[in-house]
Amino acid sequence: MKIIPLGSNGFFPSYNRQTACYAIHYKSILIVLDAGSGLFRFAEKEGKVLLRGVDEIHIFLSHYHLDHTFGFYAAFELFEKKRVTVFAKAGRQVFSEFVAMEHFPIDYEKKHKNFSWKTVTEETYRLEGYKAKVRKQNHRGEVSLGFRMEFSNGKSMTYITDGEPTWESVEFVRGVDLLLHEHEPSDEKEAKHLKLEDQISDGHVTTEGAGLIAREAGVKKLALVHHNPFLNEASLIKELKKAKAIFKESYLAMDMEEVEF
Ligand SMILES: [Zn+2]
Ligand SMILES: [Zn+2]
Repeated sequence: MKIIPLGSNGFFPSYNRQTACYAIHYKSILIVLDAGSGLFRFAEKEGKVLLRGVDEIHIFLSHYHLDHTFGFYAAFELFEKKRVTVFAKAGRQVFSEFVAMEHFPIDYEKKHKNFSWKTVTEETYRLEGYKAKVRKQNHRGEVSLGFRMEFSNGKSMTYITDGEPTWESVEFVRGVDLLLHEHEPSDEKEAKHLKLEDQISDGHVTTEGAGLIAREAGVKKLALVHHNPFLNEASLIKELKKAKAIFKESYLAMDMEEVEF
């Protein structure tokens, strides 16, 4: 299987990288992890190709920060003829609020009946041909969700972003084929002693933390995501080296470069 990063950045787009959005084809379903600005790529040729033969789209939202939801500005247009289910921590509430506050020009409740919303909590959801397991994470005092997908063909992946480095998180991702994990550069001096709980920087897991989690959980492959937008590609490669020193099978997820698992 493969995952296509449509947006690998956190915070804001930079260096040709859009914000959080990842697509996985599974039968006639397109699974979309987060709806950051990367979702706008569905307006372009490469994105349109991904929608071919797809009749159903499952969107999983880690949380509602704009770098993970800005794509909704156009999702209603881009996914017009598809049946879309959005799995999120509080259903459609955030969008009702946007509309009520005049931050959103679209009255989706009237116009976009092809979208439905499902509130998820810490449970395992059995969907068509795959299971989605949800874990609540602490994100600067707010809740974000981690997702673990297990497919009927035996493959598995997890998407972990905007959270904390914890042993519960290690257990949640244990043994998967692919771990998509956020990473944040940190002060190298502090990172030296490599205690998992310390691998946090400004509400995000450090690059070393991502490497430690991958190693402790025995995953097959780690793809670093949610890149800091101030880092150019050379700086990201330096970050990757830090992860590789801890966990050899570490890679950088980059926009529009498929990751196999
Ligand atoms: Zn973020
Ligand atoms: Zn966030």
